[in-house]
Amino acid sequence: MKKILILLGPPGAGKGTVGEKLSEILNLPLISTGDLLRESVKNNTDLGKKAKIYMEKGELVPDEIVLAIVEGRIKEDDCKDGFILDGFPRNLNQAEILWKFIEKEKVKVIYLKADDEFLVQRLSNRRICEKCGAIYHLINIPPKVDEICDKCGSKLIQRQDDKEEVVRNRLKVYYNLTSPLLDYYRKKNILFTIAGDGKLEEIVSEIIKIEKNA
Ligand code: ADP
Ligand code: ZN
Repeated sequence: MKKILILLGPPGAGKGTVGEKLSEILNLPLISTGDLLRESVKNNTDLGKKAKIYMEKGELVPDEIVLAIVEGRIKEDDCKDGFILDGFPRNLNQAEILWKFIEKEKVKVIYLKADDEFLVQRLSNRRICEKCGAIYHLINIPPKVDEICDKCGSKLIQRQDDKEEVVRNRLKVYYNLTSPLLDYYRKKNILFTIAGDGKLEEIVSEIIKIEKNA
């Protein structure tokens, strides 16, 4: 059986950072739809050009685009033992389609919980590496050298959608469309809630424990 972890939570709760760590420890690929979409935008593909319009406003990219990306990715060879999903699913339609693919596997959903002011504060201080996508926080996880990625030496940038007004819209979209998934997975008895505002190592070790328990 494949091991599948779904990271759920508002933007800025730490899904990406936690996902990276889990991916290393559990040796499962991390599939971030946000990263995959940003990659298509950067490469200026047809799909990327469409997605960009939505992403800049903090709106969801249409399901058919996202689903095509995810379907392609989870069929790849490195996903045969399982994978970690970050940023997908993000509405009920995506969740239901995903469920048809994975209902026979060992699935756990981790809900990283955090309140709005914390999220806005965290996102406005977030910087990412333009090359490798590594994530920093100006106060909590600063790079060793100002504005430079520890891992690859490239420049750090602020995502266009981390500007405060776009962040507020992303939160609104999250409450309207994504938060209903909490009940959806709670009813299936596979939802585990963790405070997203704790220490990274503690969050990660709690999730590892959850993952190990059958
Ligand atoms: P965050 O979770 O911090 O908001 P992401 O990097 O996951 O950031 O997503 C950035 C943007 O990419 C979203 O605001 C949305 O436009 C788009 N996106 C990512 N995943 C999905 C998805 N599953 N469905 C629709 N749009 C998505
Ligand atoms: Zn880098």
